[in-house]
Amino acid sequence: MWADLQPVGRSAASGGYRRFAWTREDHDLREWVAAEATRRGLDLTEDRMGNQWAWWGDPDQAVRDGDKGVVTGSHLDSVPDGGAFDGPLGVVSAFAAVDALQGNGFAPRRPIGIVNFVDEEGARFGVACAGSRVITGAMTARRARGLTDADGTSMADALAAAGRDPHQIGRDDETVGRIGAFVELHVEQGRGLIDLGQPVAVGTDIWPHGRWRLDFPGEANHAGTTRLEDRQDAMLGFAGAVLAAREAAINHGCVATVGKVAVVPGGVNAVPSAVTGWLDARGAKPRAVRRAVADVQGMVEQAGGHVTEESWTPSTPFDPSLSARIATRLGGIPALGTGAGHDAGILANAGVPTAMLFVRNPTGISHSPAEHAETSDCLEGVAALTAVLEDLAGETG
Ligand SMILES: [Zn+2]
Repeated sequence: MWADLQPVGRSAASGGYRRFAWTREDHDLREWVAAEATRRGLDLTEDRMGNQWAWWGDPDQAVRDGDKGVVTGSHLDSVPDGGAFDGPLGVVSAFAAVDALQGNGFAPRRPIGIVNFVDEEGARFGVACAGSRVITGAMTARRARGLTDADGTSMADALAAAGRDPHQIGRDDETVGRIGAFVELHVEQGRGLIDLGQPVAVGTDIWPHGRWRLDFPGEANHAGTTRLEDRQDAMLGFAGAVLAAREAAINHGCVATVGKVAVVPGGVNAVPSAVTGWLDARGAKPRAVRRAVADVQGMVEQAGGHVTEESWTPSTPFDPSLSARIATRLGGIPALGTGAGHDAGILANAGVPTAMLFVRNPTGISHSPAEHAETSDCLEGVAALTAVLEDLAGETG
């Protein structure tokens, strides 16, 4: 399976992946999922957003019987120049776990589903987890249709170009109602498991995180003829804020990043009249993040700038009893929180009992061609997921 996926959307220059929603590459990956489902005798369905679900057993019969399915899986799309593991490891491990169960003659009492969520990274249209957000109602179909990519193509037009009816997309309670438990396996996007010397961990929560816009006013002027003391250079305040964010993150034990900046007028030979930067801050403790941002805000205001909160997402805990059951079943594996968002977090917020398994990443690097996981650790992940599915789906007697 890994060899099948390896060439799809891979840049020869960087070795990274460009697998964006509703493109040719995305289409090829979806065809691959369909073929893998068919190969195993699974029933492939699509929900209103085009997320793919491959079912072993009949989830609707389970619902009629007052039960629900056990779902695993992840996503196959990538960030620009992404790594091979973020997303695909969860989908491939899901199929491999089903192979192991089928090979052992396991007969699930509850149906088992494998999901491939569309557009998890939001690389094309700017909103992460679009596939799970739309079906759970966390994002309206109207807003999703109106999102545009860098070329100005709307999601509605991209869906239509992929042969889909953009007016069919929307909240899908029937699909979400089939999920009794969701367990997403994912490559770790940090160094937690390296420090612990363990191959697999169970997730505890997605850290609280937010985005803030930092606006600095200035006065446009000539970069050659304006004396330094006569300038109102918006860039200086901004530069101070970038350094202040780093300092605040160190002081309060969280992380802070300024990864995007817009400069007006944006000429090499012009003193900036306005600079807008965006601050991303996250951490295990919401109070620590809030304090760090307050420090940055103080510095920004001192420099005559202004801070606007654009989003704040509180901590998203995974289901404690499901996570505890998984940790126990796997012999007391460690528990880790994460600063990265996942479809599992969207489902958890929608009330679905949700858990995650993380597989060790030997460098901790993610969203980069250097992202990696050793094969032996990936196989440990598959074995863990197999044991979890066996436990959660039970066996008919
Ligand atoms: Zn991912």
